[in-house]
Amino acid sequence: MILKILKFATNFILLTLLTQVGGVIYMFYVLLKYFVEKYIGKLAQFQYRLSLFCTLYLAFTFLIIPPIAKQFGRVPMPYYSTNKTQIKPLNFLTVLLNRHYVRPSLKKQMLLITKDLQKEFPNTRINYLDANFPFINGFPLLPHLSHNDGKKLDLAFCYKNKTTGKEVNTSPAWLGYGVNEEPRKGEINQPNICRKKGYWQYGFLEKIAPQWNKEKLPLDEKRTKRLIQLLANNKVIKKIFIEPHLKTRWGLKGDDKIRYHGCHAVRHDDHIHVQL
Ligand SMILES: [Zn+2]
Repeated sequence: MILKILKFATNFILLTLLTQVGGVIYMFYVLLKYFVEKYIGKLAQFQYRLSLFCTLYLAFTFLIIPPIAKQFGRVPMPYYSTNKTQIKPLNFLTVLLNRHYVRPSLKKQMLLITKDLQKEFPNTRINYLDANFPFINGFPLLPHLSHNDGKKLDLAFCYKNKTTGKEVNTSPAWLGYGVNEEPRKGEINQPNICRKKGYWQYGFLEKIAPQWNKEKLPLDEKRTKRLIQLLANNKVIKKIFIEPHLKTRWGLKGDDKIRYHGCHAVRHDDHIHVQL
């Protein structure tokens, strides 16, 4: 410390004697150097560490994990839609978080069902939501306790533009959850029943999901209903969860397959749950 003070004083005096203002400029230089090294240096180090982690994370997510997961019986759902695969994640975050893995047979059936839906609605793209993680049966994909074996996949409903009436391939919900198609008067109101029984989590997503686009993008009942019918007609798909009032409203047949999920889950009038 004494050496540092001596060095500072010597430089300050020398520069002042030589240039008059040099000593004062030197003082500013020492102060600035101190702050740059203390704060900017740390920021640069943080940026370096973050970019190193992100590079590794992306390399694993897109290059290393998919072939390994395949060996363990799970494959990634398509990252984006093409002419052949008109099914995509509603939000790319699903892929970045590795929440888009399913068993190969589920992926295959979903590609077939998408094609069938497209025959009737040519511009349709199906948006998938949460699926499963790439590894380990029993490892839950929170907050879905059952999405833990590669057999489960959530799908977004289909919507249309209120002003033009045209089909859209987006959703009023950012992540696909929480914008509900409420029960109407006279319909069974399962969310109410569950709330009264004390299942607070049943309608929780609605409280945290933004509802800004609900009016602008109403549900496309025709396409959504047809999608569920195609899912129900598929022999490999064994269960579909949807809220009872929608099942009744749309006259969906197949009690063995289109079932009620129970109050311990969350409401399913904002998305479709599909499982093998
Ligand atoms: Zn689900």
